[in-house]
Amino acid sequence: QREKSRGTADLTGKPSPKLAAAKHQDEAALKKNLCVKAAKEHSIPQDLNKVLENKVMETVLDLSYVKLSVVERTCSGDADSEGIVSKSVSSHSDLIPGVYEGGLKIWECTFDLMDYFSEAEIEFTNKTVLDLGCGAGLLGIIALQGEAARVHFQDYNSTVIDEITLPNVVANCISEGRRMGSGKDRKASKPPSKRLRKAEGSPDVLNRCRFFSGEWSQVSQLLLNSNKPCLKYDLILTSETIYNPDYYSALHDTLAQLLDRNGRVYLASKVHYFGVGGGIYLFEKFIEDKNVFRTSMVKTIDQGLQRCIMEIAFKNSC
Ligand code: SAM
Repeated sequence: QREKSRGTADLTGKPSPKLAAAKHQDEAALKKNLCVKAAKEHSIPQDLNKVLENKVMETVLDLSYVKLSVVERTCSGDADSEGIVSKSVSSHSDLIPGVYEGGLKIWECTFDLMDYFSEAEIEFTNKTVLDLGCGAGLLGIIALQGEAARVHFQDYNSTVIDEITLPNVVANCISEGRRMGSGKDRKASKPPSKRLRKAEGSPDVLNRCRFFSGEWSQVSQLLLNSNKPCLKYDLILTSETIYNPDYYSALHDTLAQLLDRNGRVYLASKVHYFGVGGGIYLFEKFIEDKNVFRTSMVKTIDQGLQRCIMEIAFKNSC
């Protein structure tokens, strides 16, 4: 009886409900840790033609991007390098086995954020920028075209970085005949500026880029360890990354670790993600409870599913 009341084991040798629950929690935590995808930096191939080999490009708002259906056909079966375990949420399971976090598609909030950059005249010149949960990487590409000093791209899935993000950066920033116009030029349909045209055909722009895959907490550790002296981001751009409340803690801590004291995060999201449970107000409340950042809703979009753009800054920043 005494044993039982202490919650260890009962006399039949069966674990008490409390112990069983604790064991289950331990196992769940262990499983969760085992499922955390390690971070990796992707090197940029010497031969840039190889990056675009077999790629079919499409265009949106003057930006080139890899046509996904062709990637799926050419890559299926050789994505084991992902080494991803745990649950599969993939409708692209041929291309990405294991956990797939949505980076193969360009999600609509990316376009909301691109519009916002033009409207609010967000300045990228000489800034250090992170495109967090980049997928196609269009936000980072806009920053590069706006003459950011450095742009780092991160996606959960390494296949997305190799087959989508890197080719898109190369196609938009290097290929002959492509222009490096700023986001402002694009919105107003102005001709590309002469200053930016100089970058055509030059690989210099790639020297300003780095590419990472892996789970957020792992990537932030890799970045903090590999950037000495510690490099923080002036701008972190992130679109459609708060759909799953299970990731809020890792996302919040990553922003806190990587954002410069006076930096800004621009986060675009649907108000609510049906089925997954995340959404802008839930994340706003999460941030409020943590008491590290202040937030402001800088734009609301009402067409179709309601969407928002949130600006995040450290509480004590200028
Ligand atoms: N930003 C892109 C867009 O708007 O088109 C892609 C959005 S996609 C729905 C979500 C992105 O967040 C994926 O690229 C995925 O890699 C990243 N992501 C989500 N959860 C993550 C996690 N726990 N760790 C690292 N990356 C994550």
